[in-house]
Amino acid sequence: MDFSEFAFHPRIASGVQAAGYTHPTPIQEQAIPVVLEGRDVIGIAQTGTGKTAAFVLPILQRLADGKRSGVRALVLAPTRELAEQIHQATQLLGRDLGVRSVAAYGGVKKRPQASALRRGAEVVIACPGRLLDLYGDRAIDLSHVEVLVLDEADRMCDMGFLPDIRRILALLPKARQTLFFSATMPPEIRRLAASILRDPVTVQVDAAAPAKTVSHAFYPITEGRKRDLLLALLRGPATGRVLVFTRTKHRAQSLASFLSKAGFNVAAIEGDMTQRDRQGALDGFRAGRYAILVATDVAARGIDVEDVTHVINFDMPDSVDSYTHRVGRTGRISKTGHAFSLSAPSDRLLRSWVEKAVGKPIESRRIPGFDYGGAMTVSARGPSPSSGSPTRRYGRRAYLRR
Ligand code: AMP
Repeated sequence: MDFSEFAFHPRIASGVQAAGYTHPTPIQEQAIPVVLEGRDVIGIAQTGTGKTAAFVLPILQRLADGKRSGVRALVLAPTRELAEQIHQATQLLGRDLGVRSVAAYGGVKKRPQASALRRGAEVVIACPGRLLDLYGDRAIDLSHVEVLVLDEADRMCDMGFLPDIRRILALLPKARQTLFFSATMPPEIRRLAASILRDPVTVQVDAAAPAKTVSHAFYPITEGRKRDLLLALLRGPATGRVLVFTRTKHRAQSLASFLSKAGFNVAAIEGDMTQRDRQGALDGFRAGRYAILVATDVAARGIDVEDVTHVINFDMPDSVDSYTHRVGRTGRISKTGHAFSLSAPSDRLLRSWVEKAVGKPIESRRIPGFDYGGAMTVSARGPSPSSGSPTRRYGRRAYLRR
């Protein structure tokens, strides 16, 4: 299939060309026609599938002919990085239409965003908290919104945005099109979707399973030997553009400084950093100044960097969903990528759930010649978990996802 079959406005077609897209991705192929028809949509797709353009292009088509006054499309996103990326995609795809898009998120000054909104915008991409803040300041009028997009709805709920989302819904016109994108559809997300969508069409690609273009490997290791194993991986198989995940902000910073002392070009990205520093780290990674970016889950949401060759879970994530999101940073579109997970003995249960999501056993690898410290017998399956109840260790969602 070719993009020309959607019969987009010529000024949108030129944006598609500028972005270098030739063929629609599966989620675009399925979602664009129904969104263009004006239907509500549930899109079950991870980041990396091309879901942004799947909603941005039909929004632009709606704006191409209609009036240019007031906020006609509102996109809610969980993080600043994702909001910024959707904004950039809107600017790029809509560059010949002259559509005005504003991104509004916290962590930076409110006034420039308020001024941009007052100057006028047809598309607003916002994190829920900042949007409510700006609404409270009367910087934005939501009474003309025709399309609402909830992007990464599962993550927004995980991050506690549900009350804010409900407040925003109450401010929007009832007659509107609603597009609901989520990587996963656990029961609470299904309920939310059912409560706000009208007769939705569900489109789905690779639901909740990591992309097929990613290869997976576990590296069993004890906590105390993780740093040295990571060095061995970075000197050995993982020599490309590497994204390393840690469990906490503190661990991200201290690991980045450890790697820097070991001679690597590395930056950290975590939620306590200023927006400027986060953007600097991201831009440096994107431009290749840093070969390695050490990130926490929240900070890495929606990071869209081409050619990430390896995702390394220095700490295993706390759920299969997070695993899927993390490894979605590599193997994007049709490129191949590798996901390496340093897994401690206590990660055994999560390992088996990840294998279920991937749909096949995942190899447990040893690095020949590496000093494992003697204390650990590394078996393909690893020792028994120390605590029995999966609900206690990984939370209810991960349990339900099995
Ligand atoms: P997303 O899942 O929206 O974050 O998109 C992931 C990446 O795929 C982004 O870098 C997009 O620019 C790119 N992309 C989206 N649609 C296409 C397409 N049809 N062809 C090639 N690349 C695309």
